[in-house]
Amino acid sequence: MKNFKVTADYHTHTFYSDGHDSVEDNVREAVSKGLEVIGITDHGFNHCMGGIKRSDIPKLRAEIERVQAKYPNIKILLGIEANLLNYDGELDIQQSDIDSLDYIIFGVHKFTFGKKVRGSFLFNARNLLWDTVKHKQKITDSYLKALEKYPVKIVVHPNYATACDVGRLARACAEKGVWFELNGKRIDFNAEEVEAIKQSGVDLVLSSDAHHSQNVGDMSLQQEFIEKYDLPLEKIVNIKIVK
Ligand SMILES: [Zn+2]
Ligand SMILES: [Zn+2]
Repeated sequence: MKNFKVTADYHTHTFYSDGHDSVEDNVREAVSKGLEVIGITDHGFNHCMGGIKRSDIPKLRAEIERVQAKYPNIKILLGIEANLLNYDGELDIQQSDIDSLDYIIFGVHKFTFGKKVRGSFLFNARNLLWDTVKHKQKITDSYLKALEKYPVKIVVHPNYATACDVGRLARACAEKGVWFELNGKRIDFNAEEVEAIKQSGVDLVLSSDAHHSQNVGDMSLQQEFIEKYDLPLEKIVNIKIVK
């Protein structure tokens, strides 16, 4: 049994996007689970199920400051879960967002509103319908382009929504110092892909992707996965190993 204690949860949602609870609800849960850091990362602006509004970011920041004053023993960060929009590797963020947020995480989601209607339609349709080798490489290229263009901290739920070349993406993240997520709701890697992740030397991060506050800090799916594939705990950035 691999024993560890989770110290941070960098991927949680509130009702500013499709989460169900408030910043304070998430923080209270994080504190009760002994976390030292919590990140609020609502869905980006172009998410079809109700991403956060750009105009709400200052309001959310003010709320975080209010809650931070009440809970001084945990660090509360404001990030965003940006969407990969197209094959050019564009995300739904701009420089002013990068300046105003503490960090950026990003991934592929099933449907997003792109910058151009046609490009966005093809990108989404392929993500939904065409699971081809060629598409897999194109999606991986898009991830890599995004890693070049934006200062991101975490690639979230890789291989979810549409398949990518997991090994190639993990190697690119390792090179850039970007964390590779083991998501609390879905882990979509087969044994061969897990081996490629291990070989890449990439840093792993566990996150809950909680949409309800009670799930903040819950890494039970990852715990099982770590056991099953004997993942090296030293490569996980947000845990303390318990001897
Ligand atoms: Zn997501
Ligand atoms: Zn999420």
